[in-house]
Amino acid sequence: MSAKPTLQSFIAGEWIGQTADKTLTSAINGKAVFHTHAEQLDFGRSLDFAHSKGRKSLLALDFQSRASTLRALGKYLIDNKESLYAISHHTGATRTDSWIDIEGGVATLFAYASMGRNNLPSGNVLHEGAATQLGKQGQFFGSHILVPRQGVAVHINAFNFPIWGMLEKFAPNFLAGMPCIVKPASQTSYLTEACVRLMAQSGLLPEGALQLVIGSTGDLLNRLDSQDVVTFTGSASTANMLRATPNLLNNAIPFNAEADSLNCAMLAEDVTPDDVEFDLFIKEVAREMTVKAGQKCTAIRRILVPENLVDAVSEKLSARLAKVTVGDPTIEGVRMGALASMDQQRDVAEKLEALKASSEVLFGRGTEYSAQGDGTDKGAFFEPTLLLNSSPDQEGGAHDIEAFGPVSTIMPYRDSAHALALAARGKGSLVTTLVTKSPEIAAEVVPAMAVWHGRVHILDEASSKESTGHGSPLPMLKHGGPGRAGGGEELGGIQGVKHYMQRSAIQGSPTMLTAVTGEFIRGAKTIDNPIHPFRFHFDELQIGQSLLTHRRTVTEADIVNFGCLSGDHFYMHFDEQAACDSMFEKRIAHGYFVLSAAAGLFVDPGVGPVLANYGLDTLRFVNPVAIGDTIQARLTCKTKIDQGKQSPKGDPHGVVSWDVEVTNQHGELVASYDILTLVQKSS
Ligand code: NDP
Repeated sequence: MSAKPTLQSFIAGEWIGQTADKTLTSAINGKAVFHTHAEQLDFGRSLDFAHSKGRKSLLALDFQSRASTLRALGKYLIDNKESLYAISHHTGATRTDSWIDIEGGVATLFAYASMGRNNLPSGNVLHEGAATQLGKQGQFFGSHILVPRQGVAVHINAFNFPIWGMLEKFAPNFLAGMPCIVKPASQTSYLTEACVRLMAQSGLLPEGALQLVIGSTGDLLNRLDSQDVVTFTGSASTANMLRATPNLLNNAIPFNAEADSLNCAMLAEDVTPDDVEFDLFIKEVAREMTVKAGQKCTAIRRILVPENLVDAVSEKLSARLAKVTVGDPTIEGVRMGALASMDQQRDVAEKLEALKASSEVLFGRGTEYSAQGDGTDKGAFFEPTLLLNSSPDQEGGAHDIEAFGPVSTIMPYRDSAHALALAARGKGSLVTTLVTKSPEIAAEVVPAMAVWHGRVHILDEASSKESTGHGSPLPMLKHGGPGRAGGGEELGGIQGVKHYMQRSAIQGSPTMLTAVTGEFIRGAKTIDNPIHPFRFHFDELQIGQSLLTHRRTVTEADIVNFGCLSGDHFYMHFDEQAACDSMFEKRIAHGYFVLSAAAGLFVDPGVGPVLANYGLDTLRFVNPVAIGDTIQARLTCKTKIDQGKQSPKGDPHGVVSWDVEVTNQHGELVASYDILTLVQKSS
């Protein structure tokens, strides 16, 4: 029995694993640090637990309360982050590398917490409106709803981001309301295990929402059914093998893959060595080669450079790489740590040998150098290595071989069209960076790049100070690329949550659709109450509660007064002749006057539970309002969202949106919009 701790799986609410199995070594010095466990896991029990407990406890909450839980979990992890940093360096990571993994992961929780609060409703049904009228009489509509899938999300992750890799998948699936089972890559699973322990200790995780598998997934994939989802990050070969699991195919189980990606960066032809952008390019490429020792799915593997700048780029980049101190990441001043394991070191060395068949080495001695620190000769270090492929049109080489480490290849190009052809040789990538000063070049190159890349990062002097960089996937932007990159999609804001939900088209009368979606749809039965809707507290208001106002005839004096008050003397309102020549053939009232007059019709002026009006959505002026027209407004409670928030004075309140229809004397719609208010709760 080894003295090194044995990691445990977290299955059905229990920590399982006493007997040591595979030894996991420190990337810095090759010493044993942890073991996986030898116990076989009962995945039938794990799935039953996820279905019976996890799903139930998650759906006892709603989108809004799950968003609040994500925020609280994020805070708990930040408060306890040092325990994660304390072991992260064993993966070969510097403090900066660990920051990306640990705090970048937590930032994803915070981002989804806030996107959930701002964009998702109360309850567990997400209406993807607006509803479309399908019948002429306005009593048959169609729309879409999304509901949490009734299964389990299985997340299989790569070794390079043991925490971010888990949390970037967990956050959207948790918000959607699906339980998950996380399987980290064994080599760095100690960090994922430590993070899951913290999450469990926080007491914030609903029972069964998260389970952890250390080691093999056994028969898990064969036990899944059509409501489950599998996500995968890792090599293309494993992705393809798992994607083809007969049970996944037979049950149409979604399989989302992020796989190897031969990302490129392009220095545009307009940039000269004297430009700021030239230095930005060098800095970005060097950073992408050395952060996480180049073990990022987004790292720049191919450097596309105009033919006449190859020497200048080679020289500058080599000089920059020469300044990178490689060694034990716990030593002050070390800028690049080790690869994650000796296996990875061997793999990168082999891939480098293969790349040499098409490229010459400009910088780097591979493993033939001394990294800083005691015992590092037994560690998985690899010096940054820069290659030059002078014949990039040939098949193979860096277009096909991914050395998953600090290795990148310069490729000269003749013109933009040639550069785009070379970029496409990657056969689908997660991300590319274009460095240019020219908006015209960006407009030409980016759409062509977008066909082959999941994300296109444009870098120039203006964006450089705030740019989050080539290599950072962001929660609000899509992560995933076509073809070789796996063809998957993750993150991308609320879109990322929808991957864990089932979209269904719904059809029926507006009253039925209102009941199902929890959102008032015009044409539905309204609840007309003699008491003004603004007199009701948030919890007392009902969707569909409505007010039809008195009428008002618009006069020329209204237009003149409004013009003088606002300073808006647009010809359509004040120039009789020009207005007659216009498409309306007469003077019309300001749209903003109609809006203001409608507020005058529907607002109840007394002090009451409506605390604030914070904006308008979907405003359309549908028909003109002329002098002599008579307008009337209908105000209807459209949606209610309980974000669990309080006003600065401590009043608990919720968000209420109101549907507003302004009509004329013929019953025609003249203005249409939603107003957004904060309404106090009764207690
Ligand atoms: P792998 O594809 O070998 O493994 C990825 C994950 O799949 C790990 O959790 C692994 O678990 C698991 N896995 C492997 N086989 C099975 C199986 N039969 N059933 C279920 N799960 C399985 O990738 P690595 O992490 O070892 O990285 C290898 C290469 O992948 C890198 O060199 C790099 O080229 C690429 N990569 C790409 C990334 C991307 O995002 N595009 C990220 C990281 C790596 P276990 O570790 O226990 O075997």
